[in-house]
Amino acid sequence: MEECTFCKIVKGEIPSSKVYEDDQILAFNDINPAAPIHVLVIPKKHIKSLIELTPDDELLIGKIYTVINKIAEKLNFKDSGFRVIVNCGKDAGQEVEHLHFHVLAGAKFGDKIV
Ligand code: AMP
Ligand code: ZN
Repeated sequence: MEECTFCKIVKGEIPSSKVYEDDQILAFNDINPAAPIHVLVIPKKHIKSLIELTPDDELLIGKIYTVINKIAEKLNFKDSGFRVIVNCGKDAGQEVEHLHFHVLAGAKFGDKIV
C-alpha cells in the first residue's frame, strides 16, 4: 500500500518547511496556506484521523497542544490569537488521512462556524 503523504514528510521523502520537531511531533507550513500563518502539527506516528484515537494516544494529543503553544510563541502570534482546526472524515472535508491540526494565525478570522 502506498504510504501517506504526511508519513513521507516525517521520513523526509517529501520536503517540508519545518517549524517544530521532536521525537513524536512534527510541524510544518501548509503548502496551500489559508491564512498568513498556516502550520500543520502532526503526530509522527500514523494515526488516520481523530476518530481512530485510542486511550494510548491521550498523552500525545495533550502534547500536541503544548507544542502549538510553543509555535505560537516562536512565530509570535501568542498574543494576537489563532485558530486550531481538525477535520475528521468526509463531511469535514479531510483530505489527508493522517491526523493533523491546522494552526491558523496572522489574520482576523471573520467566519466563525462555532
Ligand atoms: P485536510 O483537508 O484537513 O485533510 O488538510 C490537508 C492539508 O494538507 C491541506 O491544507 C493541504 O494544503 C495540506 N497539504 C497537502 N500536502 C501537503 C504537503 N506536501 N506539504 C504541506 N501541506 C500539505
Ligand atoms: Zn501517515
